[in-house]
Amino acid sequence: MKVTFYGATREVTGSCYLVETSASRILVDCGMFQGSAFTDAKNFRDFGFNPSSIDSVIVTHAHLDHVGRLPKLVRNGFKGKIYATPPTVKLAKVVLDDAVAIMDDEFRREYRPKLYDQNDVNTVIKRFVPIEYSRRVRLGGLTFRFRDAGHIIGSAFVEIEEAGGPCIAFSGDLGNVPNPILRPTAQLVERDVLVMESTYGNRLHERVNTREQRLKDSIVSTLTQKGVLIIPAFAIERAQELLYELNHLVENHLVPSANVYLDSPMAIEALGVVESFPQYYNDHTREMVERGEDPFSFPGLRLTRTREQSKTINESPNPKVIIAGSGMMNGGRILHHLLRYLGNKKNTILIIGYQAHGTLGRHLYLGDRRVDVLHKHITVKARIESIDAYSAHADQQQLINWVGAAKRLPGHIYCTHGEEESSIALVSRLTKELGVTADVPHFEQTVEL
Ligand SMILES: [Zn+2]
Repeated sequence: MKVTFYGATREVTGSCYLVETSASRILVDCGMFQGSAFTDAKNFRDFGFNPSSIDSVIVTHAHLDHVGRLPKLVRNGFKGKIYATPPTVKLAKVVLDDAVAIMDDEFRREYRPKLYDQNDVNTVIKRFVPIEYSRRVRLGGLTFRFRDAGHIIGSAFVEIEEAGGPCIAFSGDLGNVPNPILRPTAQLVERDVLVMESTYGNRLHERVNTREQRLKDSIVSTLTQKGVLIIPAFAIERAQELLYELNHLVENHLVPSANVYLDSPMAIEALGVVESFPQYYNDHTREMVERGEDPFSFPGLRLTRTREQSKTINESPNPKVIIAGSGMMNGGRILHHLLRYLGNKKNTILIIGYQAHGTLGRHLYLGDRRVDVLHKHITVKARIESIDAYSAHADQQQLINWVGAAKRLPGHIYCTHGEEESSIALVSRLTKELGVTADVPHFEQTVEL
């Protein structure tokens, strides 16, 4: 068996790995590279392999950096099936439809080339084969199964083995445990080789159980002075977790009553997907649903799908809470709200996710008081707060614990899906504390198992 790394090497995005045996050629993930531009130039390059030579694709989860180049793969000749869990199949449609809408929009406004179109996305959706966790599937001379990764709904790490040959696991993205909605990450079983993510390979998060208190403090202080609380949120998972925690705060009268707007069509669609898979929730949240409670809805919640509905938010009186995308404030409806509310000291911007270099979110996070929003100069008077315990990724200690809990440690670990310093930091701890062999692969490096 051979594995070649075609993405997410010494960077976070573009996950794409080729697994080859004498009998089959299988891709694990086919994600988009994400930089300051939506369709980063790297996505237009050749894959490095011939798409028509690939038999099938196994997808770990529906984030764009894991599924975003699937439409390009079919456009360039891939004819096989795509395997993913049922929620991943549904969410991938939401994510890829949105990606095409953004590409169409960028093409209209700035003539930016499109990586693919809606037809390619529709073909991808037709090729999906839904596979539940733990079910063993045979592909050529290989067998694979998905295990719960606890990262977003339907997310999986995947175990692959060759009859009479080596066994390997790809971690996909691993969750930040405990998660209010999802089950914890399943235990890793014996593997010869592990390819694992290292997004936070050099960092520790705040404790998850303090975050609801901090969210509450932020809401109470902003609403009591009749301000506007703006929460930029990623549409998949983060937005739904926020609704879950807001539901708890509102239903228990722990915060003053006010309108809460979910102003993101994609987050609203993703919410529909999440709600259609209660069997994927953890026990606590599933029992809520069985008792007839809605974990994601509460008095005052308004879902604003259309542009017209979104505009009514401006006219509604303060105080209010607005959840909108994009999560890094580099596009989307959030910009209109920032333009309107950044200049008032009664308002608060609450940052709950990773802010990449070069984004408006990063500037605000670093405390810049003069920023450009939609080509206008704004003096920031609103308070900027941040809670990093909302991360959807395991931190360094959680990654070490996950590997360390395996019945037998992997013989070799390749750390991917992290900035270089992050991957190197994780390799160094894995080597020192667990005594395993680990390293950080290079782009297009092939390893023989
Ligand atoms: Zn992810």
